[in-house]
Amino acid sequence: MSVPKPLLESVLISESDLQNRIHELGTQIVTDYENKELVLLGVLRGSVIFFADLARAIFSAQLENPVKEVQLRFEFVQLVSYRNSTKPTAVELIRGGTDYLEQRHVLIVEDIVDTGHTLKFLCEHLWTLKPKTIQVCTLLDKPSQRQVPVAIDYTGFEIPDTFVVGYGLDYAQQYRNLPYIAMLESI
Ligand code: 5GP
Repeated sequence: MSVPKPLLESVLISESDLQNRIHELGTQIVTDYENKELVLLGVLRGSVIFFADLARAIFSAQLENPVKEVQLRFEFVQLVSYRNSTKPTAVELIRGGTDYLEQRHVLIVEDIVDTGHTLKFLCEHLWTLKPKTIQVCTLLDKPSQRQVPVAIDYTGFEIPDTFVVGYGLDYAQQYRNLPYIAMLESI
């Protein structure tokens, strides 16, 4: 069954603004994790494009300053959240390569933090796996929508309370391959 496509309303964050900010994040991460092993933990599916660009930004930052080395390993989890207006949001882990995390530095790579329920669930789950540290890098943050407190260490952009697509984020599994972040006309 095909889903009717709402019209794209406008570009909220351009391709060049995304790339410039991700370069800055990569530089900051290399400084903070200098000479450490780091597990980049991507949250499927929305973070995949950000994840790939961030990983390469970390590589570029190392080229610019070769004394700072960060050894990267990639891991991924997939979560599903069930939203219901009368019950608290329930989050479930449906796929996860999380058996490698014990005594490792873990950097969660998220597409967007909205209410905070997904990130809170993921952090609580990951702590049971006994990592050395957990930090969070999200491309987008909607702080006005927060329902539970979560700690975010690296934020690409704070955005207003509006539904966005592109650069990995979907509407009904579409729009993920837009190279920019856009708002939709009607949802
Ligand atoms: P939270 O648990 O923080 O409320 O929600 C996080 C998840 O909700 C994100 O990983 C994403 O899948 C989804 N989400 C929240 N806001 C948006 C949005 O504006 N656009 C899209 N495409 N997904 C969103």
